[in-house]
Amino acid sequence: RVRVRFAPSPTGLLHLGGLRTALYNFLFAHSKKGVFILRIEDTDQSRLVPGATQQLIDDLEWAGVHPDEGPTSGGDHGPYFQSERIHIYREEVEKLIKRNAAYYCFCTENRLELLRKDALRNRKVPKYDNHCRHLSSDEVKAKLASGLSKCVRFKLVPSEPYTDIVYGRINHDVHDIEGDPIILKTDGWPTYHLANVVDDHMMDISHVIRGVEWMPSTNKHLMIYKAFGYEPPMFGHIPLLLNSDGTKFSKRQGDLSIKALRQEGILPRALVNFVLQAGSGFDAQVNNTSSMEDLISSFQIDKISTNSCRLPFTKLPDFNRSELARRVSDPNYLKQLVTEVQTLVADKFGETNDADVVVPDETYVSTVLHWCLPRITKLSDLVSDNLKFLWVMPKASSLSDIDPGLLEALEMKLEKSSFDQKSLVSSMKSLASEQQISYKNLMHILRKVLSGLETGPGVAEMMMVFRKDLSLERIRRAKM
Ligand code: GLU
Repeated sequence: RVRVRFAPSPTGLLHLGGLRTALYNFLFAHSKKGVFILRIEDTDQSRLVPGATQQLIDDLEWAGVHPDEGPTSGGDHGPYFQSERIHIYREEVEKLIKRNAAYYCFCTENRLELLRKDALRNRKVPKYDNHCRHLSSDEVKAKLASGLSKCVRFKLVPSEPYTDIVYGRINHDVHDIEGDPIILKTDGWPTYHLANVVDDHMMDISHVIRGVEWMPSTNKHLMIYKAFGYEPPMFGHIPLLLNSDGTKFSKRQGDLSIKALRQEGILPRALVNFVLQAGSGFDAQVNNTSSMEDLISSFQIDKISTNSCRLPFTKLPDFNRSELARRVSDPNYLKQLVTEVQTLVADKFGETNDADVVVPDETYVSTVLHWCLPRITKLSDLVSDNLKFLWVMPKASSLSDIDPGLLEALEMKLEKSSFDQKSLVSSMKSLASEQQISYKNLMHILRKVLSGLETGPGVAEMMMVFRKDLSLERIRRAKM
């Protein structure tokens, strides 16, 4: 059975690269009727960011990437926090030591520092010289008995090539190039390599799908599996995500965090489709608003391209607009949208002056949304300055120079007119000639009465949005 995992370290906010890795795992699991697991790799206690785990869980939920097993979903392969599995790693390390695949290292920080300095002086890349690999068992016993501080290192061996699901045949031979890596630190906590391998084995992971930046570790991981005598999972690495200018994405780019994008008003489906744009992995072209079900059914892991993927950031607003449009035309979403718009309006203009603010009802919000779609890319654009007139009526005092007789005639005319664009234009034309003013001039006045604007959207168009009652209300207020 397919079992895959997303295994982030809670050292900061989830960013687009992480979301993409989680998505590929999720899509793969679901396309194979498998299980998607969330595991929190929190063994580097010095780099933990308070609140990061919760934010990560929230962000994944928001994006629709629900783990089948994990910290909140539970499951019978837990605990899903590595910090709660320390005893397991310690037991596992004993096995490796017994099998002579790992050894205690008693080298002091001082000695290691000298090694580093020496290498740099000789223009070499610093590496551990595997000194303690060669201690006799009596020496080890004596050192252990004397209570010296120690860590455990894994004995590197020549690596064997493997077949990556995405990249094909790979071999990163680190033997003779790197020193033996630490797998259990002096404080008794595991390092990434050990904890990752042990957990993938214990959690029955069938496929490891992760960013290509982890590829250099994979040969090492395969050595560890072999040393344990465990069957390794299959590995598939996914290419690096790049900015549209080809520069590297960085976790530190706060504005690319899911949290920031959410706060900006980007919708989950828009972001999911956007982040899957580059890199392929689908048998059919996915559109901007494909549902998770559609993505699952067309996902094919071996279609992931090995080219680095540039994400065209300028297109994100278009994805969001498409998703907004989809929601607006879906009756199931309308109620939710209405509430959101009401909140936006109240938050932004609620303080202004109650009498001037329109309390938007469902019909009004729905009309406004349909009319505004070509003009906005996110919901909060609805309360931007140029659309303020939709929610806040012009102050009567700013309209005091308008002839009350004209306003009276306007009101009577509109009361009688049908509210379609054509009838409105012809009513206004006849009013202009009755009042002996130019049509252009009348439109100018009417726009001001309705919206307070000197220039802006077509007047008949605006009246169609306001409909009869709101249009008349605005005219009557101008008379006061
Ligand atoms: N904890 C690693 C990370 O932060 C996991 C890498 C892996 O998937 O093996 O991405």
